[in-house]
Parts: sequence; structure tokens; C-alpha cells
Amino acid sequence: MAIAAVAVGAAAVLPIFSPAPAHARPETAGLDPVLATAYSRAAAAAHAEGVPLSITSGRRTRAEQKQLWRNGLATYGSPGAARRWVLPPNESTHVTGDAIDVGPRAGATWLEVNGFRWGLCRTFDNEWWHFEVATVPGMRCPPMWADAAARQRGNF
Ligand SMILES: [Zn+2]
Repeated sequence: MAIAAVAVGAAAVLPIFSPAPAHARPETAGLDPVLATAYSRAAAAAHAEGVPLSITSGRRTRAEQKQLWRNGLATYGSPGAARRWVLPPNESTHVTGDAIDVGPRAGATWLEVNGFRWGLCRTFDNEWWHFEVATVPGMRCPPMWADAAARQRGNF
């Protein structure tokens, strides 16, 4: 477990996560360490069962996300339609390192069933590939949002 207890000031003891767990997979570079650790453990379990699972898109730079947003605008024709599938850089959880897209489909299905063991949840009904840390490990995942735009609006 990549957790260390560190004394801060006189009394407070805070758990902190090491920025680069030794067992983290290279494809987790730039991700929040909690997500990187959760995914690395989930992938090891999937692979031990013979299930293919890998990250197809993890942390993105603002420039990368800006290009994806532009592509989305061109593809879907309006910001409202595009936002169902891609968010601008200042809203995307990929830019903050808090989201992963995974594949292939069999691996994503496995992760949707088993990911809660590490706190990983599919978060959008329209994106079978998108996962975030969204629960306490071992607890049920919250209901999915219809899409990324619905979450930004704050309604299902
Ligand atoms: Zn995604």
C-alpha cells in the first residue's frame, strides 16, 4: 500500500499517497496517484484472469484536450451536442488526471463489474470506456450520469 502516515504540525496525522507507486503501470503517468494505484491493481487482477485491459487515454494536456474539443465541435456541430462526448480543457477530468478511458470492450466490461473493488466506476451511460475513482474501495458505484454534459449541469 502506497500510504504513509506523516505528522504535520503538533497533532495532525494525515495519510498521503506517494506520487509514483512502485507498482504503477507506465500508462498511468500523470494520473492522480489514487487513480493510478487503483487502476494498476485492477489491471493486474484482470490480467491474472486472462482479461485484456489497458488505458487508451489517460491524462491529457490542455492542448490535447483543446484539440479534442475542437474536433468535437466540428463533429457534433454545436457546443451543446459536443459536450455530451467531450468537454473543454477547463472542465475535463482527463486534464486533471482524474479519468481514464480503457479498452478493449471486454476489459471495460470486466472493469465495470469489478472496478468497485478498487473504487473505480464507469461514470457516463454513453461512454463504456470512461472510468474514474468514484467510490470507496469495496463499496457500490454511484449511478451513472447520462453523459458528461449532464454531470456538468448537475442532473442525471
Ligand atoms: Zn474519458
